[in-house]
Amino acid sequence: MIHFNQPPFAPKAFAYMQRAVEAHKICGDGEYTRLCSRWLEADTGAARALLTTSCTHALEMAALLCDIHPGDEVILPSFTFCSTADAFVMRGATCVFVDIRPDTMNLDETLVEQAVTPRTRAIAPVHYAGVGCEMDAILDIARRHNLYVVEDAAQAVGSRYKGRPLGTLGDFGTVSFHETKNFSMGEGGALLLRDESWIEPAEILREKGTNRSKFFRGQIDKYTWVDKGSSYLPSDLNAAYLWAQLEEAPALAAARMDSWNYYHAQLSELAARERIALPAIPAHCTHNAHMFYIKTRDLAERTALIAFLKQRGIQAVFHYVPLHSSPAGRKFGRFAGEDRFTTAESDRLVRLPLYNGLARADADAVVQGVYDFYAGR
Ligand SMILES: *Cc1c(COP(=O)(O)O)cnc(C)c1O
Repeated sequence: MIHFNQPPFAPKAFAYMQRAVEAHKICGDGEYTRLCSRWLEADTGAARALLTTSCTHALEMAALLCDIHPGDEVILPSFTFCSTADAFVMRGATCVFVDIRPDTMNLDETLVEQAVTPRTRAIAPVHYAGVGCEMDAILDIARRHNLYVVEDAAQAVGSRYKGRPLGTLGDFGTVSFHETKNFSMGEGGALLLRDESWIEPAEILREKGTNRSKFFRGQIDKYTWVDKGSSYLPSDLNAAYLWAQLEEAPALAAARMDSWNYYHAQLSELAARERIALPAIPAHCTHNAHMFYIKTRDLAERTALIAFLKQRGIQAVFHYVPLHSSPAGRKFGRFAGEDRFTTAESDRLVRLPLYNGLARADADAVVQGVYDFYAGR
């Protein structure tokens, strides 16, 4: 069986987790949380990276910091995970879904401005597969209309747009360390803050509305409840598991990129014959090999391909059912403009097994499976 995913793991995780236990420091904001946060800050240039219990929670924090209220509107793609929408819906906002570009599956930046209304408060671009959205255009619209930008960079740790790290171009960036992502702590994520002015409000929000973070830094004598908040900090045990991978990030990232490039090279002949389409990486985007997908001709062909591969013990999977067509999406949102590509392109997309440590023989079996499927059609 070739699984679609295997959770990321680095062997030193055991030693680090043991050290956290022996130090009697498994609650939040311990040594490993500090190491992971500093790594993220060094990698992205964020004014502050705050480790969270999930990317979903980081998105919730961003929605709270944007002060989203009932009646506000947020512009986002329909082709995304529900968490991008949930965070704003929880604050009473309406989702305004905008079509995607067929090449990158990202928000079509040329359609964003016509979706802006007097109620729009934020734009939430999603960097699908770790490939950057057209951030210059999106940031320009946000600046002119005085909107927040919350980047859902869940899949984009390590990715760049025109050399700039994703997740730090908008006001807020959120990343995920779920076990399906490039680096993992089981469940977890981080909120990236571009500007220093957000550090204190975000720290308070994350620590139950207290100024405990300041207290730990020795800036105040005792801590107290100062504002609204919740508990968004993960156990240091999870951070210890993550740190083992971040410490080896360049090697893990290189191996993952090698698998991605191998798929791309091996499948290019099939793409040249126009049997399938391969992912497009704009020249000014540096991706992180988060995902390898191909596109079939249509939904029926995709269903047949997934079944064919399954018979060979290969787990290939489709991705999002567009949010605007889901029960909650219909209740909490509307599609602005025409759905030219969201449904049609998501129907064609199938993701191939890709994870840290994918064996070359397994990648070969997947490639062979795809070629054999098309040879029989
Ligand atoms: C994985 C993912 C999330 C959710 O991440 P969690 O850490 O599981 O909450 C949100 N948005 C996108 C685009 C994702 O891929």
